[in-house]
Amino acid sequence: MIQSPVEFFRNLPKKQCPNCGHTFSEQAESYLMECQDCSSDNIKK
Ligand SMILES: [Zn+2]
Repeated sequence: MIQSPVEFFRNLPKKQCPNCGHTFSEQAESYLMECQDCSSDNIKK
């Protein structure tokens, strides 16, 4: 049985940003623990 990409991403566990507590879906290319807002802040700094 082939699992569709949609089902695959739906089954991914949600991450919670340790910085702001925002929950977000793990992105395929993301290895960061923080959400996009916080990680982009860190890059600017
Ligand atoms: Zn955050």
